Amino acid sequence: MNEQNSGCIGKVLKSTRNHYLVKTDLAVLKCIVRGRVAGGTATELSAVKVGDDVRVQPLSATEGAIQKILPRRSKLSRAVEGKAYREHIIATNIDQMIIIMSTQQPEFKSGLLDRYLVIAEKNSLKSVICLNKIDLVDQSIFQETARWYDKLDYPFHYTSALTGEGMKEFRNFLIGKVSVLVGHSGVGKSSMIQKIEPTVKLKVADISQKTQKGKHSTSYVELFPLSFGGYLIDTPGIRELGLWDIFRNELKRYFKEFCKFEPDCQFNDCLHLKEPGCAVKRAVDKAKISSERYKNYYNIYLDLRAAPYELIKRR
Ligand code: GDP
Ligand code: ZN
Repeated sequence: MNEQNSGCIGKVLKSTRNHYLVKTDLAVLKCIVRGRVAGGTATELSAVKVGDDVRVQPLSATEGAIQKILPRRSKLSRAVEGKAYREHIIATNIDQMIIIMSTQQPEFKSGLLDRYLVIAEKNSLKSVICLNKIDLVDQSIFQETARWYDKLDYPFHYTSALTGEGMKEFRNFLIGKVSVLVGHSGVGKSSMIQKIEPTVKLKVADISQKTQKGKHSTSYVELFPLSFGGYLIDTPGIRELGLWDIFRNELKRYFKEFCKFEPDCQFNDCLHLKEPGCAVKRAVDKAKISSERYKNYYNIYLDLRAAPYELIKRR
């Protein structure tokens, strides 16, 4: 009882070298961590992550100390390759991934969309697809594509930051949720956010992919509170999140439509590539699985590596 009353609950918006910014109901506090924080995992270099709900002991009107990390309901992470594989948590308590694609400039590519969906599935995040710049083409071109994704419970939504079409629905998707926004440069992410929340400035567009390569970009992760409720995570680290920590054998798990057919494959460990008696391929032939999605599975598979021995043992 005492412990319950000794602090308040807040959300970590940002982590810097020296402190964390924590938003409570009343204020945004500059927080330090006192001692070992309960709830963090021992393997993490820095236990407190952006997105964490934490219990804070206020020290003044503007400062506090983080006492405890409340249980996480989700996380976005990747494996860091060093002497041994280590999990690197990018952000926690994310409700959904909003994948922004554009019809043109840059052109819609389902392969890229499926790569994002694989990352979302790996991290057990729900996804919403927004196809922006719908003002540039006839919407009916995408009818078939949209039908497949909708059927897989990936809502496929059309927007135009230019004309405002679909922007109200886009805003509705974000209300009350913690969303991570992904999508290639130029698809219109900044324009869309500007339209619904002019105070949030995405800062990432200027950081070139080149300078990001090979660097850990955690320091950029930031949670933006939205005036209508909810938060937006925007970071180059997430935007350019690769698939490099996903290995060939696990990929099929992230194409969720495969699992219904898989038990009928001739081989238990069928990878649905060139094996005989593959029920997934039969389902593709019968148009029960999108041939486009299957093609993307095949191509992504070829891009990936086999898991190193160390990981095969652990997984
Ligand atoms: P970001 O890199 O994803 O943040 O993309 P930006 O928001 O910077 O947009 C890239 C370019 O696309 C800019 O020139 C925008 O004006 C343009 N743009 C954004 N949304 C739309 C749209 O819905 N329709 C059209 N025609 N252009 C758009
Ligand atoms: Zn198979």
